[in-house]
Amino acid sequence: MKFYNTFTRSEEEFSPISGNEVRMYTCGPTVYNYAHIGNFRAYLFEDFLRRALKYCGFKVVQVMNLTDIDDKTIRDSKAAGVALDAYTRKFKDAFFQDLETLRIEKAEHYPEATRHIPEMIEIIKVLLDKGYAYVGEDKSIYYSVAKFADYGKLARIDMENQRPGARVKTDEYGKDAVADFALWKAWDENDGDVFWESPWGKGRPGWHIECSAMSMKYLGKTFDIHTGGIDNMFPHHEDEIAQSEAANGCRFVNYWLHCEHLIVNGQKMSKSLGNFFTLRDLVAKGFTGREIRWVLLGTHYRNKLNFTLEAFTQVKNTLQKFSDFFVRLHSVRNSGAQGDTAEELVGRIKTAFRTAVANDLNISEALALVFELEHEVNKLMESGKLGTKGAEAVLAQFRDFDRIFAVFDVDSAVTGEVPAEITKLLEERTAAKKNKNYARSDEIRKELLSLGWIIEDTPSGPRVKKAK
Ligand code: AMP
Ligand code: ZN
Repeated sequence: MKFYNTFTRSEEEFSPISGNEVRMYTCGPTVYNYAHIGNFRAYLFEDFLRRALKYCGFKVVQVMNLTDIDDKTIRDSKAAGVALDAYTRKFKDAFFQDLETLRIEKAEHYPEATRHIPEMIEIIKVLLDKGYAYVGEDKSIYYSVAKFADYGKLARIDMENQRPGARVKTDEYGKDAVADFALWKAWDENDGDVFWESPWGKGRPGWHIECSAMSMKYLGKTFDIHTGGIDNMFPHHEDEIAQSEAANGCRFVNYWLHCEHLIVNGQKMSKSLGNFFTLRDLVAKGFTGREIRWVLLGTHYRNKLNFTLEAFTQVKNTLQKFSDFFVRLHSVRNSGAQGDTAEELVGRIKTAFRTAVANDLNISEALALVFELEHEVNKLMESGKLGTKGAEAVLAQFRDFDRIFAVFDVDSAVTGEVPAEITKLLEERTAAKKNKNYARSDEIRKELLSLGWIIEDTPSGPRVKKAK
C-alpha cells in the first residue's frame, strides 16, 4: 500500500514495524457535546483506512482516545451544573451510538484521558528530568519548545523567524506565535472541583500530553500510523511529537495521515463558527446512517468536501438504484446464458479495486469501478446474457466492496418471511448433505430456486433468501 505521509509531504510505500500488524492511533472526540459531521468526516476517513488495511491483508490494532478532560469539558460541565464525569458520560454514550449509526468499525481500545493521569505524570517527570520542561510562575509545567531541535518539523514552521518566549496555558493556539505549552495546568478557581494531585500540587493535564501517554501505553514508544483532521497537525500533533520523542529518545510515529475538512460556504464546519450539523440533526431530517456515510466517504480524504443537503438527497436515489439492481441480480434464473462475461469483468474490477484502495485510498477510482460494474452488468442483463453464475459473481463482488464501503447491504433488499414449506425443504437439504446425499441436496436446491428462493451457505449455516 501507498500513503501520503504528511510528515514528508510525499507518497510512501507502507511497511509496518512488526510483520503484518499495523499499530494506529487516531485522535478521538472531545466529549463536551455531540460530535458534528465534520468530526465524523475524520472518523470515517479513519474507518476507511482501517478497513482498507484489513482488506489488503493487515491486522490492525487501533486506539482512539476520548478526551474527557480539557478546557472545554470543564467549561461546559460547569455551565450545565453537572459533575465532569457524568457530563462527559452522556456524550461518550452518544458518540458510540453515532459510530454505530455510521457503521464505523470499533477500534481495539478507547482509552479515556481521566483514567490515565498517572501515565501522563510519569512522562512529565521525565521531561522535567531531561530539561525539556520547567515550572512556570503560575506553578503549571510548561514544555520548552526551544529545547527540542525538531520542533516545527511536522507543521513546517520556520523556527528561526519565530517570536520566542510566548507561553500558553490554553489547549489550542495559532501557528503565528509558537509558544511553550502547558503539560500540567495548576489548579485555579475556574477548574472548580476538577483536579488531580501531582508532585507539583493539584492540577490537571494539558490536552497534548493525553495522546502521548495513551498512545505509548497501548501501542508502544514507536508505532506505525497516526491520524487526525488537518487542524490537529498544529499545535496538537507537533506537541505530541515533541513530548514523546524528547521523553523516549526515539521516533514517535512512522506515517502521519491527515484528512481535509468538511467545509460550509468556504469555511471549516466547526462548533465555534456555529455552521455545523450533528449526525442527529441529519437523521432527524430523514437521512440514514448509510446515506450520510456514503456522502462523507465519497470525496478523497485529502480534498476539502463541501457540505450541501442536496448531496444527501442525491445519495438516497443512488442507493435505491443499487438496491433495485441487487433485487434484479438475485432473480436471475438463466443457468445456460450465452456470452456471459460477468465473471471476467468481476475479476478485472476486483484487481483494479484493490489497487485503487491501496493507492492512498483512491476513493474516486474505487467508486468509478463500482459504477462501471453496475453499468456493464446492467447491459448484460438487458441483452439476456447474464447467467446465474455471473449474477452470483457480481453479488459476491458487491459484498466484497462492502467490506470497505459498508453501504450496499446486498442481501437485505431481498428479505421477508420464510414460509414453512420452504423451511422444511431447507431442513431436508441440510439432512441430505449431512448424509452425503448430494444428488438429493442439489435437487432440493433447484426445487427451492424454482419456487423463488435462493440458498446461501453462511458461516452460521444455510439460509434462504427470496429472489424477487
Ligand atoms: P475535536 O473534537 O475538535 O478534537 O475534533 C475531532 C476530530 O475531528 C479531529 O480529528 C479534527 O481534526 C476533526 N475535525 C474537526 N472539524 C472538522 C471538519 N470540519 N472536517 C473534518 N474534520 C474535522
Ligand atoms: Zn491527539
